[in-house]
Amino acid sequence: MNDILLLKPGELVLKGQNRHFFEDRLRSNVARRLKSLGRFQITSVQSTVYVEPLEDDIDLDEAFRRCRQVFGIISLCRAAACEKDKDAILNTALRYLEPELRRAKSFKVESKRSDKRFPMTSIQLSQYVGGGIGEAFPDLPADMHDPDLVVHVEVRETAAYVHAGGVPGAGGLPVGTCGRAVSLLSGGIDSPVSTYMIARRGVQIIPVHFFSFPYTSELAKDKVLKLAKKLLPWCGRLTLEVIPFTHIQEEIRDKCPEEFFTLIMRRFMMRLAQSVAMANGCGALVTGENLGQVASQTMEAIRCTEAPLELPVLRPLIGFDKEQIIGIARQLDTFETSILPYEDCCTVFTPRHPRTKPKPEEVEEAEAVLDVEALCREALENTERIPIQ
Ligand code: ATP
Ligand code: MG
Repeated sequence: MNDILLLKPGELVLKGQNRHFFEDRLRSNVARRLKSLGRFQITSVQSTVYVEPLEDDIDLDEAFRRCRQVFGIISLCRAAACEKDKDAILNTALRYLEPELRRAKSFKVESKRSDKRFPMTSIQLSQYVGGGIGEAFPDLPADMHDPDLVVHVEVRETAAYVHAGGVPGAGGLPVGTCGRAVSLLSGGIDSPVSTYMIARRGVQIIPVHFFSFPYTSELAKDKVLKLAKKLLPWCGRLTLEVIPFTHIQEEIRDKCPEEFFTLIMRRFMMRLAQSVAMANGCGALVTGENLGQVASQTMEAIRCTEAPLELPVLRPLIGFDKEQIIGIARQLDTFETSILPYEDCCTVFTPRHPRTKPKPEEVEEAEAVLDVEALCREALENTERIPIQ
């Protein structure tokens, strides 16, 4: 019998009526992540998701690693399967959990029995397995109140399972259960983190990147592709939309007052992202903006930036310190890529003295010389879509 994975769904058990919708989505997200490893049977029984390999040579360690990156799972473990027989269960516990039993300072056995035809009660089974472990490890005391190791035994319909408890999962909600959003993905440290945080709330992400070739190089685009690739396991499916931004930036540089360059540029980003959002049924935009981090992220600047928008902008990092953001970027393994020294389009035409307390009407006036609609249309018509694999 093959080992299996047991996944414990997180918040979705709280969702009452919607629970089936959440569980279905979780199972299909898990299935998609595991598909390339072989055939699995994925079922939910009493708020646990069972992942059972249907082929013998499946890499279950890799399957476990992948499941750790699926949102909606609060904890997960690998369990050994055996016959529904008390001695088979004891022997499996002794063999499968030997390293844990050697290390532990005390233990107890906890049994669950959903197959009520099994001839022992849960308590009898725990006592039997606990007794056998005590004989095999005479120096390991049983402790019912505060054990170092809990040996879990579950007797289900088709088999019995033994495991030593779970490790934390990715948390959050299954991607796809909370709608869709367009995430503005630069090559920086912040936006991969903000993308991850909103995906974690169950949102399907469409990443967009504004690309100012030749002011920013192909290397800058590769860097964004690399970041998107690192986000893929968390986000499920991603198609990066690369929106050409050069003409817009040149127009701004040639026709607008320098102190408003960045703000006008950012308003264009928002409009374009909103168009992509509308075309794809998205409910919001996501940015890595962070209050006070740069001149374009003061409250006044943020007000000007979002003024042309109808959709809400989600800014999960707004109140974070840089250290906290970097901490998450390191966990995601995006940090080292983000700090590669390629130019971003924001740094191409940076004003020497940006306005930190701009007024919306001043920015609008500065922008009025541009044919906003035509510039946006041109950029959207030339957008490149890159499926991330
Ligand atoms: P990051 O570290 O993510 O680049 P930042 O602190 O450098 O952010 P800005 O450059 O002002 O801040 O950008 C703020 C947000 O605007 C970014 O977090 C990102 O969401 C979006 N953004 C900036 N530049 C681009 C770009 N070239 N393409 C897509 N989105 C961008
Ligand atoms: Mg940036």
